[in-house]
Amino acid sequence: MSKVLVIGAGGVSSVVVQKCAMLPQVFSEIHLASRTLAKCEALQEEAGKDRVVGVYQVDADDAAKVADLIRQVQPSLVINVALPYQDLPIMDACLETGVHYLDTANYEPKDEAKFEYSWQWAYQERFKEKGLMALLGAGFDPGVTNVFTAYAAKHYFDEVQYLDIVDCNGGDHGQAFATNFNPEINIREITQRGKFWENGEWHETDPISVRKDLDYPNVGVRPSYLLFHEELESLVKHFPTLKRARFWMTFGDEYLTHLRVLENVGMTSIHPVQFQGQDIVPLEFLKAVLPNPGSLAEGYTGKTCIGTYVTGIKDGQQKTIFIYNNCDHAETNKEVGAQAVSYTTGVPAMIGAAMMLEGHWMKPGVWNMEQFDPDEFMNRLNQHGLPWHVTECDKPFGA
Ligand code: NDP
Repeated sequence: MSKVLVIGAGGVSSVVVQKCAMLPQVFSEIHLASRTLAKCEALQEEAGKDRVVGVYQVDADDAAKVADLIRQVQPSLVINVALPYQDLPIMDACLETGVHYLDTANYEPKDEAKFEYSWQWAYQERFKEKGLMALLGAGFDPGVTNVFTAYAAKHYFDEVQYLDIVDCNGGDHGQAFATNFNPEINIREITQRGKFWENGEWHETDPISVRKDLDYPNVGVRPSYLLFHEELESLVKHFPTLKRARFWMTFGDEYLTHLRVLENVGMTSIHPVQFQGQDIVPLEFLKAVLPNPGSLAEGYTGKTCIGTYVTGIKDGQQKTIFIYNNCDHAETNKEVGAQAVSYTTGVPAMIGAAMMLEGHWMKPGVWNMEQFDPDEFMNRLNQHGLPWHVTECDKPFGA
């Protein structure tokens, strides 16, 4: 029985809050704080006032304010589903007040689109000394894809060698251009240079320049592009036998055309420009005019397919497996009023929090998901709406 404080009240939070609310035996009290109080109140209404017992306004860029709120609420764990910019102030506040921490995306500075764990891994000793735990990247990718890799390594291979994480959204929301999670974070991620790991070093590619047409179970063939994604960094560290690790994401032609035009006219820039006497960041303005990802759920059809291809050695033979989940936008909308991208992020965050609070994954320090035994987490994916499948492939990925 534990009290949790959820910070952030967007698309992912709405799923986290509702899924935690379904498990009162684990999450005895849920408190919700975000920058805009009205959004917390709306989610409270959705989940029930008996389950979300307190809502609060907080600016989570300010560690002192978050620490004050934690002292007021006294939770066992903070679930951070605000934006990556808030990771460090929230971790500081958890350290100051003696509370465990969980997030779904690694820290990035606002003025630099730079995705790496170095800032958060630097908290390892401080969390350890205080007997506190921080679980990093507990969404789907990062998150479930890390656990899929650990599961493959534990049950299918003596040595893992090649990893290809694939993220397909085969859904249709009927909008000309929209992102499925926070537009600012999403566009920063996909417009950066591509990067993959091979033979002990990182190799860079131009943004969205390497394409493969991949066949996704229950979706079909989709153009997929090589991107850098944050779980690659922790996975190559924790599975040093990996000779190569890559990440692929699907984008339709229409989406890429819009993105190219927006980039060409400067709308994806994160550097402030002067407009009518004030500084505005073009990408922040663009976010304000794009559809709110949470609003896409109604009428969204089709499925996501996210998974991990692993090639390695078992009993002297090379083999390849694919572990994946399909998630249907219409079904998640029916269950919790959210589209599948919010759902596939929010459910693992809830499971990760339960794994910590119930002691399955409780260890002082700062950890990535693949550093724990994957089995119980995998069981819970099946129980809480994200069933997974393993197929043995006839040939290595992409061959
Ligand atoms: P949204 O933009 O929908 O929600 C973000 C929420 O954080 C909003 O309620 C926002 O408040 C709040 N917020 C922003 N800044 C502050 C602040 N300074 N103080 C307090 N609250 C703040 O984003 P999503 O729900 O789509 O994404 C949430 C997180 O999940 C992101 O970090 C994203 O990167 C991550 N994610 C991870 C995935 C994974 O698989 N691992 C996949 C998808 C997302 P306001 O309403 O006022 O703007």
